Amino acid sequence: MNVSVIGSGYVGTTLAACLAEMGHDVLNVDLDESIVDAINAGECPIHEEGLPELVEKHAGENLRAATDYDEVAETDLSFICVQTPTQDDGSLDYSYVESAAEMLGESIAEKADKHVVATKSTVLPGTTENVVGPALERTSGKTVDEDLGLVMNPEFLSEGTAVHDFWHPDKIVIGATDDESGDLVTDLYAAGDLLDDAELVRSDLRTAEMVKYANNAFLAAKISLVNELGNICKTADIDAYEVAEAVGMDDRIGSKFLRSGLGWGGSCFPKDVDALRAFARNNEYEPTLLNGVVDVNDRQPGRLVDLAASHVDLDGARVAVLGLAFKPGTDDVRNSRAIPVVERLRDAGADVVAYDPVAIENAKTAIDDDSVEYEDSAEAALEGADAALVCTDWDEFDALSFKGMKRKVLIDGRRIDVDRDELDVYEGLCW
Ligand code: NAD
Repeated sequence: MNVSVIGSGYVGTTLAACLAEMGHDVLNVDLDESIVDAINAGECPIHEEGLPELVEKHAGENLRAATDYDEVAETDLSFICVQTPTQDDGSLDYSYVESAAEMLGESIAEKADKHVVATKSTVLPGTTENVVGPALERTSGKTVDEDLGLVMNPEFLSEGTAVHDFWHPDKIVIGATDDESGDLVTDLYAAGDLLDDAELVRSDLRTAEMVKYANNAFLAAKISLVNELGNICKTADIDAYEVAEAVGMDDRIGSKFLRSGLGWGGSCFPKDVDALRAFARNNEYEPTLLNGVVDVNDRQPGRLVDLAASHVDLDGARVAVLGLAFKPGTDDVRNSRAIPVVERLRDAGADVVAYDPVAIENAKTAIDDDSVEYEDSAEAALEGADAALVCTDWDEFDALSFKGMKRKVLIDGRRIDVDRDELDVYEGLCW
């Protein structure tokens, strides 16, 4: 199939490269010239395991990138994968989705055949119908359900395992205005045998949009619950990980997402839970449980810094922050829990020296503070430090050596597997 993917960030690049690997012809459109140049040169614009190989293999063959929409009309199907950031009141900024739909509409205005547009960006129920559809109709002159098909195909990948997640989805959700458009997206995935092991869910647009929010709200709530239980375990000197292991043996609960610690971050959970809360309030429903889910999450970075302060006078202390990415396997620092940790350490007067294997450049933009020092190895960050705080559980941290530290104090927000005997103080956030 001939497919266009609009937006080449974490979702769009993964989708485009994997569809190319599946054998489809893929046009990837992004307004950012540096991203487009990178893809056309066979270079992956983001850090994601397995993706550079796919981009390198297909660039210049059945994967090409462009900053304009000129060739979109030659494709059968377009996916919108642009960002949907949060506004100050928690609601979503749809301007990127709307302008992508407008540009897409313009580009297909002269196309004789029907064109199908699938939203992959995470958007609240009603958005594909009320924002994407009208924007496309305005600029294309086409009509939804006649010569324009609308689909909502939410994305469930996790950064760090995005390529693996693409090939092994638990489910594929396809909401559509009409059967023919939904069938086209179903056929696209069927070509890669993805549907052999995944559940296929066909629905209307709004249900598909809501499934994505319900999914992320559920996962965020699970982590916050396990973090709250971990905090309670800590007060009673009980190992939360032993408790979680036993709890996870119950099939009704499952063993995933039971690692208590510093909490959830990234570009999805915080944004999606906030948007769902704003959506509920708009519909005059106060989402009490989701409010608590956010409160627990917001408390964890402060708890980590308080734990450090119970062992070290932070004012003037040199404190190493290990891990800046919101999770291992990615260079994404959006809403990383490391950011409030760094800010609170700075507020307490600490000199912060930070290290991450891949996310330092992104962190420099996200942490607007010239006084934070960055080192290119964990050993260099630990050298002369009075304490170290672990914010991301990169595998390489399991082999940390603390020899260079002034005081061997490790405050662990992620339960890394270090040799605790090497330390003077080891404190886990929830254990
Ligand atoms: P991103 O910010 O990494 O990428 C968005 C890209 O879209 C950018 O490269 C930007 O230049 C480009 N863009 C913006 N407007 C454009 C336009 N009009 N035309 C062409 N390109 C344009 O975003 P992301 O992390 O890939 O997320 C995209 C969407 O997918 C969001 O709604 C997000 O919530 C959702 N999502 C993200 C993830 C994830 O793990 N990152 C997972 C599931 C769903």
